[in-house]
Amino acid sequence: MPTVMKFGGTSVADAQAFENVARIVGSQRGTAPVVVVSAMSGVTDALLAATIAAGEGRADEAIASLEQTFQRHHKTAAELLTPSAAAAFTKQVDNSAHQIKELLSTSADNPLRRRPTQDAVLAYGETLSSELIAALLNERGTRAQHVDARRCILTDDEYTCALPLMPDTLFKAHDVLAPVIENGLVPVLGGFIASTAEGTTTTLGRGGSDYTAALIGAALPAHEIQIWTDVTGVLTADPRVVAAAQTVERLSYAEASELAYFGAKVLHPKTIQPAIEGTIPVRICNSHAPEQVGTLVGPQTETTDRTIKAIAHKSGVTTVQISSARMLGAYGFLRALFEVFERHKTVVDVVATSEVSVSLSLDDASALPVIVTELEQLGTVRVEKGCAIVCVVGEGLRGTPGIAARVFSAISDINVTLISQGASSINFTFAIEEERVEEAVRRLHDEFFGTQKRG
Ligand code: ADP
Ligand code: ASP
Ligand code: MG
Repeated sequence: MPTVMKFGGTSVADAQAFENVARIVGSQRGTAPVVVVSAMSGVTDALLAATIAAGEGRADEAIASLEQTFQRHHKTAAELLTPSAAAAFTKQVDNSAHQIKELLSTSADNPLRRRPTQDAVLAYGETLSSELIAALLNERGTRAQHVDARRCILTDDEYTCALPLMPDTLFKAHDVLAPVIENGLVPVLGGFIASTAEGTTTTLGRGGSDYTAALIGAALPAHEIQIWTDVTGVLTADPRVVAAAQTVERLSYAEASELAYFGAKVLHPKTIQPAIEGTIPVRICNSHAPEQVGTLVGPQTETTDRTIKAIAHKSGVTTVQISSARMLGAYGFLRALFEVFERHKTVVDVVATSEVSVSLSLDDASALPVIVTELEQLGTVRVEKGCAIVCVVGEGLRGTPGIAARVFSAISDINVTLISQGASSINFTFAIEEERVEEAVRRLHDEFFGTQKRG
């Protein structure tokens, strides 16, 4: 059974990082690897910024801004490949540059074409990095074949955050990849990119290469999905906030999903779902330190003596409170309320209800003005921007009393606005003001993972 190995942007940041990838894939040649790769770090951001600038009528500036990105690809290839292979790749970069310029100057400022154009432009990041990995693997003795991911992952036409069409994707991915694997070649695909049934390019949303890897893993099926990144697994908290965060050795699918959903950027929130369906283990490893043991995510639901396994957080959240005496003893009220969010395609993250009010949190508040107008038909609406969600996760939360008390005494001077214990009872989630979230996470980490502490 194959192994899916996904390498994120920092794992292909420069020639040295590419060499690491080639070594890691080469060392697993016996496990029938299938490689999924992100754009070189920073490339998606650069392409996105250029698309936005072109959309604002600054196409020339947008095109000029990408020169550095193309040069970076040329330079990396020149450092890695023999002159003839480097020349072939350079030609691909130049063709891509030409097509990107064409897109930016012809369709980026058409409001109706804005999102499809964005996806078409962003796709070049993954296409180029995957072509380069395939060329490099062949030069380093691992026979590889580039496969356009758009032949494997089929989606709807929600450009910039498309949803995979499930039976079709599972069928197509298997159909395209199985013969390559049977021929003893390592397929190399760009993550993140997909296409509609009509063949137009779409993307799966920022960070979506993890999701590509999981979809491919489910389609083959793979015996393991490996997510290679720049940290050693899922850590007990975001290492950019808690320097002492440690690797969590094992997580259940449910724990990993909750952490990803509530802000642990190391995994795209949708990654776990395809793995659950095929009961495929997901391993998170460090491409900069491959000898270190990362995190294994699987169906097991073990508890540890620390009770909680990790803390996730995300900022930029908006909370909305709807209060109405009409809710009291009435049915149909909640349905009417959630229909408003559904109509405006807005995802609700955390919900808490009382007799006369509903509080909820939103990640994407772009449709908020119209949502608020409609909600005002149902009751009094209060909106609070600049909030953050904190989520403590662990199978041990189920049936361990006193966790809430420990959480709230650790942050007793911070105002908590929304509290929810997930139905799965493995997470405890609450909202606080954004400015204090890092301080809150550090204090909670100290409470649950400080050297003296045991759950
Ligand atoms: P990639 O480019 O490999 O997809 P990402 O930047 O998307 O990498 O994800 C890895 C980053 O996620 C880490 O460098 C780290 O800063 C961040 N991160 C946030 N929360 C966590 C966590 N709980 N465990 C590990 N990393 C985390
Ligand atoms: N390159 C895309 C991004 O930066 C997808 C990914 O890296 O997962 O969002
Ligand atoms: Mg990522």
